[in-house]
Amino acid sequence: MGKCHITGDTGGVEPHHIFQGEALKPLSEKYGFMVPLRSDWHRTGNYAIHRDRGLNVSYKRRCQEHYINVLGKTRQEWIREFGKWWTVEDGKGGTDGGNSK
Ligand SMILES: [Zn+2]
Repeated sequence: MGKCHITGDTGGVEPHHIFQGEALKPLSEKYGFMVPLRSDWHRTGNYAIHRDRGLNVSYKRRCQEHYINVLGKTRQEWIREFGKWWTVEDGKGGTDGGNSK
């Protein structure tokens, strides 16, 4: 599985799909928008990516940058595929893990 992206630890690491849900999970896999995280950073800690909206959205935004800067695609193409463009504002407040608007 490799190292936790946040802590660098190799034990208790789980794969996280950065985009969730029936429609988006396959896109996470298609583009490799997956990140290895230690279980506390993934699910169990108060600060876990499934609980901390800011952390969750920060990873989504990194994927958007990759899509544009590395894959050379456009924001319009992203929105067509992923449904919305995530902004810093989306990461503010809430503890729902950033998966709903
Ligand atoms: Zn996950």
